[in-house]
Amino acid sequence: MPPKLSSALVWFRRDLRVEDHAALFHACRQASRVWCVFVFDTTILDPLPRDDRRVGFIHAAVEELDRSLRALAERHGVPGAGLIVRHGIADIEVPALAARLGVQSVYLNRDDDPAALRRDAVVRGALANLGIAQHESKDHVIFERSELLTGGGTPYGVFTPYSRSWLAKLDDSYLSAYPVERHAAALAPLPEQDRGGVPPLATLRFSSGRWDPAVLPGGASGGRVLLADFLPRLDRYDSQRDYPALKGPSYLRAHLRFGTLSVRELARLAHQRAQAGSSGARVWRSELAWRDFYHQILHHHPRVVDHAYKPDFDRVAWAHGRAADAHFAAWCEGRTGYPLVDAAMLQLLHSGYMHNRLRMVSASFLTKDLGIDWRRGEAWFARHLLDYDLAANNGGWQWAASTGCDSQPWFRIFNPVTQSRRFDPQGRFIRRYLPQLAALTDNDIHSPWLARPVDLATAQVVVGRDYPAPVVDHDLARRATLARFAAIQSPTGS
Ligand code: FAD
Repeated sequence: MPPKLSSALVWFRRDLRVEDHAALFHACRQASRVWCVFVFDTTILDPLPRDDRRVGFIHAAVEELDRSLRALAERHGVPGAGLIVRHGIADIEVPALAARLGVQSVYLNRDDDPAALRRDAVVRGALANLGIAQHESKDHVIFERSELLTGGGTPYGVFTPYSRSWLAKLDDSYLSAYPVERHAAALAPLPEQDRGGVPPLATLRFSSGRWDPAVLPGGASGGRVLLADFLPRLDRYDSQRDYPALKGPSYLRAHLRFGTLSVRELARLAHQRAQAGSSGARVWRSELAWRDFYHQILHHHPRVVDHAYKPDFDRVAWAHGRAADAHFAAWCEGRTGYPLVDAAMLQLLHSGYMHNRLRMVSASFLTKDLGIDWRRGEAWFARHLLDYDLAANNGGWQWAASTGCDSQPWFRIFNPVTQSRRFDPQGRFIRRYLPQLAALTDNDIHSPWLARPVDLATAQVVVGRDYPAPVVDHDLARRATLARFAAIQSPTGS
């Protein structure tokens, strides 16, 4: 046990919970007095639209975190604890607060996004100048950075061997919870000037308008509600996860993104059920491994943020100009004339969520049917997804665009109509977002432009009036894409 520090500060970022929290555990175990801070970072917030739904979600999670810290401390006989909240530039606020409180160390959980790494390096430097240490922990993933390497000591670029190694190494030491409760008596009452609590959203100049807690319950307690709802469905995850009309996946994405649930707890539950024979749990556990996989890709290859993982593919001649801009706008607004793609894009706009199968279909459509650069689609998703996560989004986009590690080979191109027939066979998902097509038959709803005039008339659908004609012909687009990729002469796509 290292010698006790007199005091420490825990800086919360994408880990908005008190249970099983690595940094909070280490701080409370090692220091006699522990304060906690969250910074509404203007560097991140200022460029966002004022109704960004993520800010509402985070704000609610921070309010709950404050209440939970207060309650945790009270249970251990410490009244008046809670969260110190700042609104400003984190690089400045955190060292200033640490200096004022006179702490010896700042504890935080690592965030490997390139911008976060830069910010944390600045803070580390500022703290060092003040003689304060920065103590970092792994918390956001099961395996990080170089914890899993190939036999040759290099990072994995292919998922299957990575996941084999992920599973082989998985044991209790990676899955057990950090027992924060055991040391919670170290939480300290808030100094007088830090008792302001969490400022209202309006003070941060945001509205909660677009985040709907009825659709996505927030805070750690909301994560628990969703988890309790998912666990009885976990065994069926493998057979149901691909159908957007079904309640197949967990919908825990934003809770994993902002750390309102611990990934260790989720992986532990999945691992136990998988070991007991659940094929649903086995597949879900492997989705958590995909999440780690993309995080280590980003760590080892930060250039993927704006370049193809496979450098050859930076030479793909993506479409641009006015026609491409018009196609991009149609894709963003759900007006491509391909109902499954349009319903998916409307789901994103309405809810900040898109089903995983539809992320693959719509990303493939943008890059392979419209020939548009994956970076434009990636940026659109980044703006609208409540669960936006740089590593997973970039990985997903580069997979669909065939520019990434272990991605879809470029010559295998999703047919948006076939995907629609296969994964939304009765058009139930399409009908939810495109009610103007609701009266079409289950056969016609996937491709209204191919319906017989009599059937369109019966359904009162005029293509071009009630619903757009397809912006491109899939077969022609497919051929153009094959030529576009063949031109960079990488026939295997590897
Ligand atoms: P579940 O199916 O219940 O999966 C559980 C968890 O596993 C997810 O919450 C997620 O954390 C992780 N996960 C599942 N699939 C993947 C995957 N393919 N890659 C990495 N992690 C995965 N996921 C994000 O979290 N943020 C993003 O910004 C994001 N952008 C994507 C963009 C594209 C083009 C594609 C194809 C996928 C993207 N994904 C992203 C991955 C995946 O679509 C979402 O994680 C999933 O749909 C979230 O819903 P869920 O929580 O119900 O997932």
